[in-house]
Amino acid sequence: MDKNIAIAIDGPAAAGKSTVAKRVAKALGFTYIDTGAMYRAVTNAVIKRGLNPQDEGQSEMVMQGLSIDLLPDGRVICNGEDVTQVIREPLVSGNVSYIASYKNIRLALVEMQRKMAESKSVVMDGRDIGTYVLPNAQVKIYQIASVETRAVRRYEENLSKGIPTSYKDVEDDVRKRDYIDSHRDFAPLKPAMDSVLLDTSYMSIDEAVDAVLKVVKDKTGAERIC
Ligand code: C5P
Repeated sequence: MDKNIAIAIDGPAAAGKSTVAKRVAKALGFTYIDTGAMYRAVTNAVIKRGLNPQDEGQSEMVMQGLSIDLLPDGRVICNGEDVTQVIREPLVSGNVSYIASYKNIRLALVEMQRKMAESKSVVMDGRDIGTYVLPNAQVKIYQIASVETRAVRRYEENLSKGIPTSYKDVEDDVRKRDYIDSHRDFAPLKPAMDSVLLDTSYMSIDEAVDAVLKVVKDKTGAERIC
């Protein structure tokens, strides 16, 4: 019997998924996989090569031989270059949803994501993890919060990372990404039928982490190791 456990955390932009997923993974001793960082890394590669992210054919060209490594310390390496910081910049955020709507790019990244989840226990966050990437995940969480709460959180996060943005731009970006992500044809953002809805609008990070850990314990028996 497969003893590995997969926890899928999906939801709209800036809902706090990665913060919660990272903490849940640490508490359980599982590997955290940030799939959004992979779409961001591809977007950055497209922009860097001077290609147009709104052109599907041009964008697909960067997938040839592209390597993406998600290091345990959170760094994101693309073709040997550390892109951890640049993939959070507004230029990448503003274009990533176009890139994520292209089927061939998704298929290539999904294949990498499934490989990463093979033979170990993971917490994977994204938009289509419970519905498409890991449909057999034992735990599926759909994490939401109001648009305003999400925009404030992302705005403050950007400030703390030294990424200059206005609140209005952040809110517009969150709304635009949600729209494109939930309206694309292939593997759109939507809750898996068997997901547990977690509204974090009025929750602290600790409360959200505890809520996920409770679902994990109920469904799999796995408990905090630290
Ligand atoms: O999670 P994050 O906000 O960093 O994701 C950036 C973008 O990558 C999303 O807005 C979405 O367009 C895309 N994405 C996706 N499927 C995933 C993860 C992210 O389409 N599994």
